[in-house]
Amino acid sequence: MKPGFNIQKWARLSVLGLKPYASARDEFMSKGGDMVFLDANENPFETAVNRYPDPNQSSLKARISDLRGIQPEKIFLGNGSDEILDLLFRAFCEPGKDAILTMPPTFGMYKVLAGLNQVENIEVPLRPDFEIDVEAVLESIPSTCKMIMFCSPNNPTGNSFSPDSIRAILNSFEGLVVIDEAYIDFSANDSWLFQLPKYPNLIVTQTLSKAYGQAGIRLGIAYADPQIIELLHKIKLPYNVNVLTQQWAKERLEKQDKIAAEVKEIISEREKLYPVLNAISWVEETYPSDANFILIRVDDGDKRYHQLIEHGIVVRNRSTQKHCANTLRITIGTPEENQLIRKILKEIR
Ligand SMILES: *Cc1c(COP(=O)(O)O)cnc(C)c1O
Repeated sequence: MKPGFNIQKWARLSVLGLKPYASARDEFMSKGGDMVFLDANENPFETAVNRYPDPNQSSLKARISDLRGIQPEKIFLGNGSDEILDLLFRAFCEPGKDAILTMPPTFGMYKVLAGLNQVENIEVPLRPDFEIDVEAVLESIPSTCKMIMFCSPNNPTGNSFSPDSIRAILNSFEGLVVIDEAYIDFSANDSWLFQLPKYPNLIVTQTLSKAYGQAGIRLGIAYADPQIIELLHKIKLPYNVNVLTQQWAKERLEKQDKIAAEVKEIISEREKLYPVLNAISWVEETYPSDANFILIRVDDGDKRYHQLIEHGIVVRNRSTQKHCANTLRITIGTPEENQLIRKILKEIR
């Protein structure tokens, strides 16, 4: 157990002193449905969405809290994890002054958001086997570094990082450690969620976009110490998660059995693709995956990418990424789509 996280030291001064926008309705909602709301200039005629959404997403959070066994005070919901990541930059990193640390090859948004927020992105590449280079990371953290971003299972490589490596960094860095678990439901490894009580500087992000099959509704979830969640609440736009998303997410969360069955099927399809890939002469390497995609190394990334397009299949060419020359990332589709790509892979010369 690390000592408490001193948010005064790590958050941006301007954010600490900020007074959030308050909708007048917040304080009256708790009094129940018998109030007449004439405070927000809405059209009063019922369309199911004529009212503004609950800015605290209380009922959706309560459901997530039940499912995960985490108190609502430790949960933040955003318009996708992308919004949550952006809010973390804006809450903690002073533009033109602070830095973050990332480990390429990894999810491209960290770099985009660093650029957008004018925050230096210190890149410490993963080792060629895509594991964390712990020593290099520990040696490269400047005093301006506010956040270290891990993506585990990692996109685009598919592997989960060694818990010991992450723990070593969590134990020696006092700033924020973000673990992006967008693909955790496809992994046999434990979520870092259950380590939150031990590490008050840890933020775990998850999303409904991947295993939960809800990329279109845009719902990301962050779990962290209540101090951090409170700060994010203070700076978010009041109605960042719309009424439809809140309703739809609640309905989907009731279908845990269906989601588990889909995840199981995707994993089984993933495993069916490996032997086919390994038997193809132009596939030089396949990387083990804890996610719903497989990274492969081929003889000529651009050529194979375009050949697949000619056959009507779009994959992601990751060849420009660190240690990823001539690599393609293939998402696992439906059994029919998987059958098709297996057939086409065999046909391509
Ligand atoms: C897909 C993905 C996300 C999801 O972002 P949303 O904004 O929640 O859709 C987050 N992190 C990583 C690493 C991803 O690959």
